[in-house]
Formats: sequence, C-alpha cells, structure tokens
Amino acid sequence: MTKQNIDWDALGFGVYPTRSMWQSTCPINGDWADGSLIPYGNIEISPAAGVLNYGQGVFEGMKAYHSAKDRIVLFRPNMNGKRIANSSHRLCMPELKTDYFLNAVEQVVSDNSDFIPPYGKGGLYIRPIVWGTSPTLGVAPASKYTFMIYTAPVGSYFKGNIKPLNLIASDSYHRAAPKGIGNVKAIGNYSASLRPVIEAKTQGFDEVLYLKADDERLVEEVGSANIFMRKGNQLVTPKLSGSILPGVTRDSIIQLAQDRLGLQVEEGELLLSDVFSADEIFCTGTAVVVTPVGQVTFRGKTHTINDGNMGEAATELRKTLLGIQREDIDDPYGWVHEVKTT
Ligand SMILES: *Cc1c(COP(=O)(O)O)cnc(C)c1O
Repeated sequence: MTKQNIDWDALGFGVYPTRSMWQSTCPINGDWADGSLIPYGNIEISPAAGVLNYGQGVFEGMKAYHSAKDRIVLFRPNMNGKRIANSSHRLCMPELKTDYFLNAVEQVVSDNSDFIPPYGKGGLYIRPIVWGTSPTLGVAPASKYTFMIYTAPVGSYFKGNIKPLNLIASDSYHRAAPKGIGNVKAIGNYSASLRPVIEAKTQGFDEVLYLKADDERLVEEVGSANIFMRKGNQLVTPKLSGSILPGVTRDSIIQLAQDRLGLQVEEGELLLSDVFSADEIFCTGTAVVVTPVGQVTFRGKTHTINDGNMGEAATELRKTLLGIQREDIDDPYGWVHEVKTT
C-alpha cells in the first residue's frame, strides 16, 4: 500500500488517528469470539462502566516495523498475548487466547499498514486494551468486556544521539506493592506513577528509579522500563519477584547479553548501593528499547555512572536488538513475526 503523506521525521510519541481499530466484546466467563475492524474514532460508554469507576482494565504495548527486507514485522507478539491474558486473569476479566489476540493485532496492522513509518523512521505503536464495559455500581467484576486495539505511527524514540537518563531514586513513592498488581500491565499502575514522574521532572530529572516496597535497599524498575546493571563481566537485573513487570525486551536482552556479549547474567537482587558504583546501568522496554542511565540521585546526593556516558554493553545490545527487530541482522531465535498485508 502507498504510504500516507506524513512527515515521518517530525513524528514523536503521541496519539495519531489512523484508519481503523479492532473491537470485540465478551461476557464474563465467556470466550472472546467474532470482533472486527471498525473506523478509528470515539466510542460510547456507560458512566458506570467498571473501567471508569474501579479501574478494571489492562493493556499492552507493541510495535510493527517496516523492515530492511521490505516486510512488515512484529517482535515476539505471542509474549504480549500471554501477558495480556495473565493481566486479564489478575483483574477477573476473560482471558484472550494467544491466537485470537495475534489475529486481531495482524488485522489492525495490515489494515493500517500505510501508517507504518518507512524503514528506519520509527514504527507503528500498537495498543491493545481490555476493559470492563458494563455498568457496575458496587465494587465487583463487570459482566461484559471490551477488547480494543488502536495504533499510532511513532518516530524513533531518540533522534540522533542517545542522551543517558538522569534519574531520581524515590523514597517518597513506590511503584508496586508485594503481592499487588505490579507484575501485570494494569491501567491503575500508570495513574499511580503520574505524580512521582511529574515531581521528578519538575526537579530536572528524566524519570523515577523505584525501590522495592518492602526493602528499600533494592532497586526494581525505572518508570515503565526494566533495569540492568553491568559490573565487569556480570549483568544483573532484578528477578521477577511479583512486583516487577516481566518485559519482553528484558527477556530478549538477557538472551542477547549471554549469546552475543558472553556476559554472565544474574536475575537476582539489585542493590541501590551497587547501582551507584556500576560500570553501566541501562533500562529496557518497547518504547525506550535500550537506554543508558548517566546519573542517579538519592537523598540529595548525585552519583554519576560511567562518566555519564552510554556504556559498551548498552550500545552493543541496543544495536543488536534493533538490528533483529528491523531485520538488518539474522534472527536465530524466531522472534520476528511477519504480517502479510493485503
Ligand atoms: C511495559 C513495561 C515494561 C517493559 O515491557 P516490554 O515488554 O519490554 O515493553 C517494563 N516495566 C513496566 C512497569 C511496564 O509497564
């Protein structure tokens, strides 16, 4: 399909109306079935909908790329399918089967393929959401659910050089509680993060480094991204203890660090004091890919990491991951998934 007439170089990360979006509905305890593409636009919803009153909603974030092989590709979409099913289960919503999820994503991507930026100019961000639709006055699961997928073309997250992040380690806020919902992509987790990040930005920081709620010596995540620390030949990332979001990028980076860089990877406990003296720190996620951390401030004291520069592991891992995602280099893992466009 001929590309839309969009100034691809001017694209940032924001809402952008496309042609169509996916919609299906499902009763509680039911199976997701049917569903179809509908024109992109506003929807009607009851003021008493479960999602509006009690936050019964979960989402995903993925990207479709126009690859070097002139194909439209997704990256490990089955992992997003399994994760949204887990997230839905935690919030008492009917679980999507992976094949159903994937088919819906493919249809949306295919129908909006002219909105996918050309090779090297960013990607089509894909936002699947499941929420409780039916009116519920008392706190209870809704009786009817909606699954929707919309998309937006987004530019490369960073234009030109990557600037290492300047973080504040927060002792005023936690992101997630032990045995809470930090390990699923529940919408409420992100409303809770708005105040901390606004305050951090007001003080001149880029993002918040969250500490573990029941042991503030330990580090958990950076905003909506997972964190890694390299010291010598060792790479450490917090283990999936229940309050950490299991990132698809995190999982991929663990594999690539072992296979491509020969690093020894440990999923364990990451001490804040070790972060201060690390050889390098970086964070991972669909939006940020791999982004270095240059500074961490805690209780008024600023610690500079790797002289504030992007480290060698982050540089190599970012290049390799993006290379696989955009089909510049071979994918021995079967991570890249082609979408046939019509
Ligand atoms: C989405 C998310 C991530 C990153 O997950 P990816 O699958 O790599 O995009 C990390 N932390 C949080 C809190 C998130 O919401």
